[in-house]
Amino acid sequence: MGKKKNGRLCLVLNKNGLAIDVGSVSHVIRKVQGKRAVILDPVTFERYTIEQWVARGASSDTCIHAERSFDAPEVVVCTFYDDTHPVVINCNKANVLKRDGYRCSYCGKKTNLTVDHVVPQCEGGRLVWNNLVASCQSCNNMKDRMSVEEFCAQMGCEIPHAWNPNAAPWLFKAGYMEVPKSWKQFINI
Ligand SMILES: [Zn+2]
Repeated sequence: MGKKKNGRLCLVLNKNGLAIDVGSVSHVIRKVQGKRAVILDPVTFERYTIEQWVARGASSDTCIHAERSFDAPEVVVCTFYDDTHPVVINCNKANVLKRDGYRCSYCGKKTNLTVDHVVPQCEGGRLVWNNLVASCQSCNNMKDRMSVEEFCAQMGCEIPHAWNPNAAPWLFKAGYMEVPKSWKQFINI
């Protein structure tokens, strides 16, 4: 599976509030302690220094233990402009399968995987991220020239979300295919 548990990763926003990275909680805590970032409450959008955040105490089972318990931050905002390294995720079979968690997007099977064109090539569908999904050979054959809507209705599955990882390459590199709810408002994928 190309998924990681939500456990101890935190979303990093740049000074403009744009999502630019994910980091371990210990890494982002160091950033916050070094005054290079502040913690953002993803519900209230209030910003906290480390002292203010620790003073809030621990409210859930995500608390981490140092000298005191406090909630593991879910989102931090950089207070300076950080250098980010642009990366491009190539659109190829290996990366499409990784994005889709090494499962068929239609039936969920994990064997005999290939890549399906959501809009078939003969209908003008292109070899681009938004038109490719992981599919088992059997679904691929069954779908043939059918539209994705028609095939998904027949299979009783949801229409797959063929997102482009280049919208958040750092997320893809971290192996993070399922975005936690509190991050979704910051990431447009
Ligand atoms: Zn399948």
